Amino acid sequence: MPKDLEELRTHLDTIDRRLVDALSERRGLVEQVARLKADSGRAVRDAERERELIARLVEQGRGGGLDPFYVTRIFREIIEHSVRLQEVLHDDAGASAEQGTIVVGYQGGIGAFSYMAATRHFGTRPDDIVYQGFSSFASMLDAVKQERIDYAVLPIENSIAGSINESYDLLARMNLHLVGEEVQRVVHCLIALEEIPLSRIRRVYSHPVALAQCGEFLSTLTNCHAEAYTDTALSVSKIKDEQDLSQAAIASEEAARHYGLPILKRDVADQKENYTRMVIVGKAPVVYERRIPCKTSLIFSTRHERGALARCIVGLTDRGLNLTKLESRPKRNSPWEYIFYVDFEGNVADPEVAAALELLATNASFMKVLGSYPARTTKDAPSAAPDVERPRPGPRRREGDVSIDPAVERQLEKKHYRLVSRTHRPDSTLISVGGVIIGGERPIVIAGPGVVESRTQIRRCAQLAQELRVDVLRGGCFRPTRAGDRFQALGYEGLEFLEEAGRESGLPIIVEVVDPADVERVARQADLLQVGARNMQNYALLAEVGKIDRPVLLKRSRTATIDEWLTAAEYILTHGNQQVILCERGIRTFAEETPATLDLSAIPIVQERSHLPIIVDPTHALGEARWVPPMAEAALAVGAHGVMLEAHPDPARALVDGPQSLSFEQLRESMSRLRGA
Ligand code: PEP
Ligand code: MN
Repeated sequence: MPKDLEELRTHLDTIDRRLVDALSERRGLVEQVARLKADSGRAVRDAERERELIARLVEQGRGGGLDPFYVTRIFREIIEHSVRLQEVLHDDAGASAEQGTIVVGYQGGIGAFSYMAATRHFGTRPDDIVYQGFSSFASMLDAVKQERIDYAVLPIENSIAGSINESYDLLARMNLHLVGEEVQRVVHCLIALEEIPLSRIRRVYSHPVALAQCGEFLSTLTNCHAEAYTDTALSVSKIKDEQDLSQAAIASEEAARHYGLPILKRDVADQKENYTRMVIVGKAPVVYERRIPCKTSLIFSTRHERGALARCIVGLTDRGLNLTKLESRPKRNSPWEYIFYVDFEGNVADPEVAAALELLATNASFMKVLGSYPARTTKDAPSAAPDVERPRPGPRRREGDVSIDPAVERQLEKKHYRLVSRTHRPDSTLISVGGVIIGGERPIVIAGPGVVESRTQIRRCAQLAQELRVDVLRGGCFRPTRAGDRFQALGYEGLEFLEEAGRESGLPIIVEVVDPADVERVARQADLLQVGARNMQNYALLAEVGKIDRPVLLKRSRTATIDEWLTAAEYILTHGNQQVILCERGIRTFAEETPATLDLSAIPIVQERSHLPIIVDPTHALGEARWVPPMAEAALAVGAHGVMLEAHPDPARALVDGPQSLSFEQLRESMSRLRGA
């Protein structure tokens, strides 16, 4: 080894040791924080502090040339670890604090996704942890029951494949308790014995669910047969044992590392967002303090009475419980009878929750609480995504905007629209765009370039958007060609770049669709579809976006009245899709200084007539970047649910719409004013 390489490696080793020392020191402090919080009854999680911490570190890292996504990813993991540690410490304080060896079961081999969830969940415990693989869920749960192991990690549902019925059936049958959950991100990799061309692979082994999730990729391998095997990680072990070069396996990166085999291709699943929810099963329940946000899972069966199911559900929701899951399963040996699985936010230790459950038990023929445990959501799975649910200053919508003035109601009854009308639905509609709620009290910001020009351009926009806590990333990929346009939009290639940038930054994405034939395909990749101003009355396009289950942003045409605009929205709703967000972007008047006149009067009027959310795009109305920020503030001041701003890393060199695009500095400044900072 050359001398300087050796020296550099020694230096790296020193730095790595310092990192580990720093992490241990951090852990010590977290323990002290946990005690203080417990004494003062403060919540374990402080989302606002977490966000500030990450924003600060991202800024610091930027100075040292570190990618913001990288810094975010690492610190999300560190923070998650600290939250788990605080939960565990609390747990120990409650029970006898004796430390010992805990045996945790999982199904499959080392590197299985359950194994990874197990190590994440239990890795923070002060105890010695022994992980034990099982060949089946049933044998694993039996071991818990017979106290041969302490806990089992049981996959219960997958974000693509849905519920894992076998797990539910076992939980219904066995008297065990849920004491925790984990959300495990699943990234499938193609693993082989050596770095060989894909064309030489003849057989691919994996768990049947994993094979099904990689169907599109597998179909591109010619003369190759996919074969189901008990577990992802064990299929890696199998190909290693058999030493046949034409065999490959699909499993986690962890499994490849464990068996020392190369990854031929990473992330081969048809859908990139893939999570499995696992529950931690124990023999006895654990009571968590109310400071820890919990979820409760239970099972019930209904009485043989008309309306029995509705009564049970209403009984829960009337008490203000937020149901996060409801699932029915056939009852064993009773054809056409069902048992129901419910998850809701809350803790049975809370007297109000206990009262709601008592009522449920009265209405049901059977009820069993499986457990209350600290809740994890997909957002808590390690990712670069910053948390988006934070209260922000901004105009507050009037309380009780659900009662309609009788005079307004009489007017509305004469209109040519019904589904979008407040008379049809008095409550304001909230729309979730990849988890960001639009239409509520907190105004949202959509930002990004007019069009996606390159991977680098959209990636830079996404980094800034993440840093500035923008809610949704925009970027045009398909545009109606306009006079004077010399730029050819990138189409699906641009959408790939946008999707990748959105995924890296944890931001949902919006893209305009112009051709009805593209709607279904675009909807698979984008979180929000935009119908442009020029297409507001393109009924073929409206019908198509009306048939998908994806939110749609409907821009107002420059020449449409408010009622014509609402009628266009109505047309979408009549096709089934109720998730329409209206966007005011300027109308034609005699004002010559701007491409259009931003009609902010439309905001309160639309809000009176319709329950749909409404946002404002000042960029396309003003046409000049420096005029955009004050109008964005004005939009929020009159109660818009959000704004959309065009921004570009280098407006002077933008391929289209440069003059109207905010520079990064202008966006930063505008965001801080919009957020009231
Ligand atoms: C856009 O948002 O890029 C756009 C083309 O908007 P509009 O349809 O409002 O002109
Ligand atoms: Mn534009």
